[in-house]
Amino acid sequence: MTAQGFDGVERRGLMFVLSSPSGAGKTTLSRMLLEREPGLKMSVSATTRPMRPGEVEGRDYFFVDKKKFEKMVEQGELLEWATVFDNRYGTPSAPVEAALAVGQDVLFDIDWQGTQQLHQKASADVVRVFILPPSAADLERRLHTRAQDSEEVIRGRMSRASHELSHWAEYDYIVVNHNVDDAFAEVQSILKAERLKRERRTGLTEFVRGLQRQLEK
Ligand code: 5GP
Repeated sequence: MTAQGFDGVERRGLMFVLSSPSGAGKTTLSRMLLEREPGLKMSVSATTRPMRPGEVEGRDYFFVDKKKFEKMVEQGELLEWATVFDNRYGTPSAPVEAALAVGQDVLFDIDWQGTQQLHQKASADVVRVFILPPSAADLERRLHTRAQDSEEVIRGRMSRASHELSHWAEYDYIVVNHNVDDAFAEVQSILKAERLKRERRTGLTEFVRGLQRQLEK
């Protein structure tokens, strides 16, 4: 469960969760994090929802039918799963476990239901970040700009957003996405600070002992 950190101290991989109502900019922030943070790997979920234009199988999601999803649940292949907008979404366990085993951090774009389940299973390794839109109008504008969903779907997402917001207090960190560069800097700072937490740094005792031995020579 460990890897050598940038400063030579071993640490456990962490599970970095980003949640928000759709349209709050979470997908952009995830993409920026993956581009700029080596050692961070995206958890690709399985979903029963149809593929949107521009999405790629295995990169954005594993698109599966309901029968296949149920089989994954029955066989215990999912770390967590939930029903969102009448579709099912779940995190395959195996890739997450493989990444953590070699000390890689894993990024999750999952909703509050999945976050609760992850936290129940592995609270010490889970960092929960909630992204808020700066206003309701901003959220609506972003949903329209994205133009991937029908009016009806957008209306559904707006009303669901209010329900999702009610779970903000279950998160460790809250970032308001006034503009993407500032929000990214905040999210990146959270990741950097969490990586440095003493309790994650399994090699620290050994490292400090080594320093002491040299100092006492
Ligand atoms: P979308 O359909 O817009 O890609 O995602 C809809 C919602 O489902 C988002 O809030 C997203 O975070 C959530 N979601 C995506 N994958 C998972 C998953 O594996 N588990 C859970 N619990 N939620 C997910």
